[in-house]
Amino acid sequence: MTRILRTRAELREALEGAARPVGLVPTMGWLHAGHRALMARARADDVTTVVSIFVNPRQFGDPADLDRYPRNEARDIEICTAEGVDLVFAPPVGEIYPPGFDTAVTPGAIARPLEGAARPGHFDGVATVVAILFDLVVADHAYFGQKDAQQILVIRRMAADLAIPTEVVACPTVREADGLALSSRNVHLSPAERAAAPVVRQALLAARDRWVAGERSAAILRAAMLDVLAHEPRADVEYVSCADGATLAELEQVSGPALLSLAVRFGTTRLIDNEPLA
Ligand code: AMP
Repeated sequence: MTRILRTRAELREALEGAARPVGLVPTMGWLHAGHRALMARARADDVTTVVSIFVNPRQFGDPADLDRYPRNEARDIEICTAEGVDLVFAPPVGEIYPPGFDTAVTPGAIARPLEGAARPGHFDGVATVVAILFDLVVADHAYFGQKDAQQILVIRRMAADLAIPTEVVACPTVREADGLALSSRNVHLSPAERAAAPVVRQALLAARDRWVAGERSAAILRAAMLDVLAHEPRADVEYVSCADGATLAELEQVSGPALLSLAVRFGTTRLIDNEPLA
């Protein structure tokens, strides 16, 4: 039986005496196979599985982006039920940020490049809501998708710094057959944009191929991504990056674990993806 909880108090009460280990999957809803994979991992590792569904206003810079974020709670709950999730925490905004709420978690250097630079304040919003969820659930494990690679690094750093005992578990990116990473935002792609979007993955794979062949110049790997993207007129590149896998500092030479990543707009839809080099 999947229980739906709306308040912090209901969640805490439902978790009292819950069998451990407890696994948490934080989401913003509009659930897809990427989220399902995180739930399946939690079900495999944990005795009690908690999914949160909360479109977090604090992590959206652009109010229009927040307004058009897709939502379908009834369908999301069906998916959680089908995945055997024990508890779904789907609070209203005022339950997470009650009147007078006046505290934020501000991550440091790891949150500054890439998505942090492109979306000012984004990771403050993410870290703040995840800190609240971690504090409410006190999970043994929390599952996050590799698709949002910087998010994982930010949350790991935060959990370590704030002495949060929850282990942050990274799960592989789930993709469509043509390589496009599943994302709630894909629903906004027009048919022509959807047809063009796999170029994001192709750009990453082109650079990875160069790396596998022995190329270690980060500039050449970035150029390899840009070269592929340049062939797709609908792809409006925001950034391509070849960065240190732990610090996300841009590299000159790839000599250890690294992360290829990029953000590309198709019309009004912004897609991100990445490929670890290790
Ligand atoms: P979101 O609902 O987009 O905030 O995502 C909730 C969680 O699902 C985050 O940890 C994401 O990284 C993860 N996620 C989103 N898309 C995918 C995907 N295609 N594969 C694996 N995990 C994903």
